[in-house]
Amino acid sequence: MVPISQAWTVASYVISQKLKGRKRYPLVLMLEPLFRCNLACAGCGKIQYPDHILNKRLTPEQCFAAVEECGAPMVSIPGGEPLIHPEIDKIVEGLVARKKYIYLCTNALLLKRKLDLFKPSTYLTFSVHMDGLREDHDTAVCRDGTFDTAVEAIKEAVKRGFRVTTNTTLFSGANPAHVREFFDQMMDLGVEGMMLSPGYTYEKAPDQENFLHRDQTKALFKQILQNPKKGWRFNLSPLFLKFLQGDLDFECTPWGSPAYNIFGWQKPCYLLQDGYVNTFKEYLELTDWDNYGNKSDNPKCQDCMVHCGFEPSAVDATFGSMSGFLQTAKATMGV
Ligand code: SF4
Ligand code: SF4
Repeated sequence: MVPISQAWTVASYVISQKLKGRKRYPLVLMLEPLFRCNLACAGCGKIQYPDHILNKRLTPEQCFAAVEECGAPMVSIPGGEPLIHPEIDKIVEGLVARKKYIYLCTNALLLKRKLDLFKPSTYLTFSVHMDGLREDHDTAVCRDGTFDTAVEAIKEAVKRGFRVTTNTTLFSGANPAHVREFFDQMMDLGVEGMMLSPGYTYEKAPDQENFLHRDQTKALFKQILQNPKKGWRFNLSPLFLKFLQGDLDFECTPWGSPAYNIFGWQKPCYLLQDGYVNTFKEYLELTDWDNYGNKSDNPKCQDCMVHCGFEPSAVDATFGSMSGFLQTAKATMGV
């Protein structure tokens, strides 16, 4: 379970934003310190840059400035593979000192070897990329043996007292029975919770065949998540899980998970690249928000139900009204 201190920090932050009347506020900063990775997954839209871009990194100071400018209580560090960054330990240390709840997203190939760089902390969670059972995962990441390496790293990190979650992206062709078995395996490893998202239809990803359309997403997640087992824990808002199954509808709130990387603040979201600006204020003020979301005419948004666009919407709905709060409470209790 997410520690009470984190749940309280996030809840009080969201309520304070609402009391201030802020229409758009960030919940999780997506801080991408580099794009280079040690894998080349078929569904990845982040690693197709030329070498001179893949060699660039954010400095720890740039990371701290972005985190302070944004003000979100949580920071997700995706990539690329953040553990390749030569100063990732300094970045994490600086964010822990700033009391940010960090999700360091990793494919875990280097995790076991690099664990000594980090200290267990309530503020630090390793979010390990696991896309299914051994065969399904190794196929998704296009390299045999990756699942076993990640499992070893998870066991070691859990043993040393680190917070560990898994982070799973599903594509068309996912087998619901396999995914359910995979959840059992991950919980048996002792992870704190599991994150789930459908893949986004990245134009640059090598595999364009296996992205899910909206109806397919809902049908797949319904099959996977109906009759959830008692031992499963998800590191997601209960309302987002309902949204994935088509039981609730939200519009996306891309400013809830703004992305900062070597180019600056990315408009409008972590997935689309419609230009960059230098400050978070410019990002909020200069992005033409009406052009985005499922209700817009933007074809790039039509099939999107991705975590970074819609989890902040679900959290906002939880604290936006008494009915949202009650719905969340009921969903949490499985009523
Ligand atoms: S591990 Fe993540 S960043 Fe690396 S190639 Fe796969 S999806 Fe892309
Ligand atoms: S629907 Fe929202 S999160 Fe998804 S691609 Fe469009 S702007 Fe980004």
